[in-house]
Amino acid sequence: AKKDAGWNFDNSYSRLPKLFYTKINPTPVSSPKLVILNAPLGATLGLDEGALRSSDSLAIFAGNQMPDGGLSIAQAYAGHQFGQFNRLGDGRAHLLGEQLTPQGERVDIQLKGSGKTPYSRYLDGRAGLGPMLREYIISEAMCALGIPTTRSLAVVSTGETFRRETEQSGAILTRVAASHIRFATFQYASQFGTVEELRVLADYTLARHFPDADGAENRYLALLQEVIKLQAQLIAKWQLVGFVHGVMNTDNIAISGETIDYGPCAFLDAYDPTTVFSTRDTEGRYAFGKQPEMAAWNLTRFAETLLPLLHDDEKQGAKLIEDAIAQFSEQYHANWHAGMRSKLGICHEESEDESLIEGLLNVMQTYRADYTNTFRALTLDKPEDTLMYDKFDFRQWYERWQARLSRQHETKAYSHQLMRNHNPAIIPRNHRVEEALTSAVNQGDYRVMERLLRVLSNPFAYSPKQVDYANPAELTACPYRTFCGT
Ligand code: AMP
Ligand code: MG
Ligand code: MG
Repeated sequence: AKKDAGWNFDNSYSRLPKLFYTKINPTPVSSPKLVILNAPLGATLGLDEGALRSSDSLAIFAGNQMPDGGLSIAQAYAGHQFGQFNRLGDGRAHLLGEQLTPQGERVDIQLKGSGKTPYSRYLDGRAGLGPMLREYIISEAMCALGIPTTRSLAVVSTGETFRRETEQSGAILTRVAASHIRFATFQYASQFGTVEELRVLADYTLARHFPDADGAENRYLALLQEVIKLQAQLIAKWQLVGFVHGVMNTDNIAISGETIDYGPCAFLDAYDPTTVFSTRDTEGRYAFGKQPEMAAWNLTRFAETLLPLLHDDEKQGAKLIEDAIAQFSEQYHANWHAGMRSKLGICHEESEDESLIEGLLNVMQTYRADYTNTFRALTLDKPEDTLMYDKFDFRQWYERWQARLSRQHETKAYSHQLMRNHNPAIIPRNHRVEEALTSAVNQGDYRVMERLLRVLSNPFAYSPKQVDYANPAELTACPYRTFCGT
């Protein structure tokens, strides 16, 4: 008998105008193998672990068979890649449908690396095992850090290879997302659709993600404001943990406010706002310190698509956009400062806090202090572990911070707990991720990765057992680089 894991699909996206997608099945692969399964995530989706490990589920994860109720489509979009507008779409991904979960949520189930579509252009439709495992690791780490993100349900190796610069082993990731509606989906509607088609997309998005805004007097303005609010929250969270997305193109920004499309992303070691990991980002467009500005740029592109819906008068519409975008900076800064105060154990805002925070970042940058471990050391009340204790400017800052804390009425324990909750002890260190990938891809040994995933699933534990995973790599002459060869 066929083992159904508990799929409960709807396909609302396929009921949108044809403009927005193409019906197309994944390309079957020869000998798929399940290499990693996220059973706890499966359980929250109402999927049975035993069945997920069966050959029937393997065939689904491989794109060799459609789940009951699934309807495979590739989504169309068009957006700015490094500032250049391009017509795009899922070139190697297939949306199987929306799982309706036992909690009453609706989440996209998408295969990535599952073969060509009409949007593949000159590309091969495939994904490498290393990059798909990398997305699995980082997205699950982000989730454990409390950052909105797409999730990873499974990775299968395809048993096939394909050629890029070198021979690659193929893999398919099953991605779970609130939706795959991107800023670039709106840009596509705006550029290639009618105003009515744009309105259908906006109404669909409102109903699916922002039901409360749906009743607003100007619901399209409410949509814009909600999307801005979510970006202001998301980007603040990235900056607070030192996450560098790497490719903040408008096709890689989700309307839902989830982090999406893990390509050449990585976490900071040394604190430096100019940090870039991606080899493709030669101009530093998406450097760590530029992410808030780039988010505002992306939001402006998104907002512009809504112009015909916002107001009958274009000038008035443009004014609404301008005011809404100005809100982004304000909200972002408020979120980031609140987060930074918590990282420093500060319970209530004082006017000098901004300069106190800036003071710490400045000394960290001067001494190339490790971002995560500096806050970790402060949390553990071991300033000597910051490796800056012999520096006069750090010492001065430290005294100033201690004086600030002593003015608080809250107990030391309370402030300490605040820090514990906001400063992860563990982030996915680049050399640890690479080590896990090398062992999996080259030796077929997934134990290193599984151990890493366990540690990353509990980043605020401050467990002595995790200490090995806290250290950055030895400094080398060659900075860490992630390749975009996804
Ligand atoms: P990315 O840079 O990963 O955000 O991808 C940008 C666009 O290129 C998206 O439309 C992808 O679907 C498409 N794409 C990336 N890699 C491939 C590939 N190997 N085959 C087909 N399309 C791809
Ligand atoms: Mg993308
Ligand atoms: Mg990508």
